[in-house]
Amino acid sequence: MAATQIATYKNYIGGRWIESVTGRTYQVHNPARKDQIVGEFQTSGADDALQAVAAAKEGLAVWAGTPAPARAAVIYKALEILGRRADEMAQTITIEEGKPIGDAQGEVKRSMNIMEYAAGEGRRMFGYTTPSELPNTAAYTIRRPLGVVGIITPWNFPLAIPAWKIAPALICGNALVFKPASATPLSAVKLTEIYEEAGLPAGVLNLVTGPGAQVGNALVESPDVKGISFTGSTEIGTEIYGESAKRLKKVQAEMGGKNAVIVLSDADMDKALGGIVQGAFGSTGQRCTATSRVIVEEEVYDQFMAELIDRTSKLKIGDGINPEIDVSPLASQSQKDKVLEYIGIGTEEGANLAYGGRELTGGDYDQGYYVEPTIFTGVSTGMRIAQEEIFGPVLTVFKAKDLKEAIEISNSVEFGLSSSVYTKDITKAYEYINTVATGMVHVNASTLGGEVHLPFGGLNSSGVGQREQGTAAVDFFSEVITVYIDHAAEATERARFI
Ligand code: NDP
Repeated sequence: MAATQIATYKNYIGGRWIESVTGRTYQVHNPARKDQIVGEFQTSGADDALQAVAAAKEGLAVWAGTPAPARAAVIYKALEILGRRADEMAQTITIEEGKPIGDAQGEVKRSMNIMEYAAGEGRRMFGYTTPSELPNTAAYTIRRPLGVVGIITPWNFPLAIPAWKIAPALICGNALVFKPASATPLSAVKLTEIYEEAGLPAGVLNLVTGPGAQVGNALVESPDVKGISFTGSTEIGTEIYGESAKRLKKVQAEMGGKNAVIVLSDADMDKALGGIVQGAFGSTGQRCTATSRVIVEEEVYDQFMAELIDRTSKLKIGDGINPEIDVSPLASQSQKDKVLEYIGIGTEEGANLAYGGRELTGGDYDQGYYVEPTIFTGVSTGMRIAQEEIFGPVLTVFKAKDLKEAIEISNSVEFGLSSSVYTKDITKAYEYINTVATGMVHVNASTLGGEVHLPFGGLNSSGVGQREQGTAAVDFFSEVITVYIDHAAEATERARFI
């Protein structure tokens, strides 16, 4: 039997698909079937990144001068193509990242939503006019593109995160160098193909695959790159923010989370359990908005725990390409090692392993990176499993005597991305909304998600710089220029003090 042909994918620079100057490639495999090679990709280096920056400078000259509604037409076209390729894109996401196909389909839909929203900005992108303090003077603001922008993305949403950075950046007239996560480059290649087919001029979107330490770092260091939009770990985000600050570069960095749900005694238990199980174990806990802590009011703690364990035990674990599956493998060997290490740490710290905790092996499980959904009880705020982002299917449960104590526990971490409370008491809900230290707050809904026309992002170690999505994205990807026009017929006394 002939060996299966492995496709080799190239970088996209200046409107051409080209090999990396390093001449090296690497392979990506399916996290549910280690022997299935997804493709071979360019192991690019700093020289490729800088070549892409040079191409982006040329693309910028064309794109910045293209009227925003005309830019929108290209994004609408890309949206149409993505819609046509939606099934293929969902399968690609599942095959390279491992998430259940239903989640992957949701990710494609989400990507389409942001493209639709961003394209609509092409006919808004408002500045404002205001009366001048001087006679015969017009005063108003306009927006200009930021310039060449580096887009550095993680593996956990290989399509949606690039989509929600690229579409708003494009509508604002920027030219981009896109460095996707090394683990999930195929969705990135396909998104780039889609924009190419949609008619994006050469140089406006450039794709360079390869290690972050070389490709990403070159973007951060290049004086021609005016902004970086990053999502990933707090460690790398902090480094990028620091290095960019030295170069006066604009940065938005969306980073880790340790998101907590509070369940009060009057909560709708069915709703709360549904949201928590989905939030903790959906996408194998590998979402920045995943639920990793639950804080339960003591009156309902025993009932809650019994039902939580019952529901968790019913989750179906397997290859996410099967639509029946609830929990799929972790995305990589390093993710599996990290999760198992944290499970060990939790046990050593004295937390009670109430459910799961094992690596799954045997049969098809040997083909992927499977870890059981895991629940720790008896957790205290000083433990590492209560403080650090595990990024896997591990839930830590706390008991609290009332809302005040529950909020204290919720706020006891360095992160501040998303949070939720389940209660029917409107007064308590508002007390929570006004005191919980997260950028996104949910009431009677899971910690997951967000809508594309609203700002997305967190406080403290979860995020820095402008929020993503909604009009916040336009603020990040554009510069505001203030215009004064003296339209008096003759010279007049015009004292100015600044
Ligand atoms: P990283 O933060 O290392 O990677 C995110 C992106 O940054 C990738 O494209 C990566 O490239 C790139 N990168 C890495 N190093 C540099 C650098 N020095 N300069 C510029 N870019 C760089 O996350 P990991 O993929 O390693 O995941 C590690 C942990 O981070 C996870 O276990 C999780 O805890 C957290 N994480 C959080 C996410 C979130 O949404 N909040 C998303 C992903 C991860 P490359 O892939 O080539 O390394």
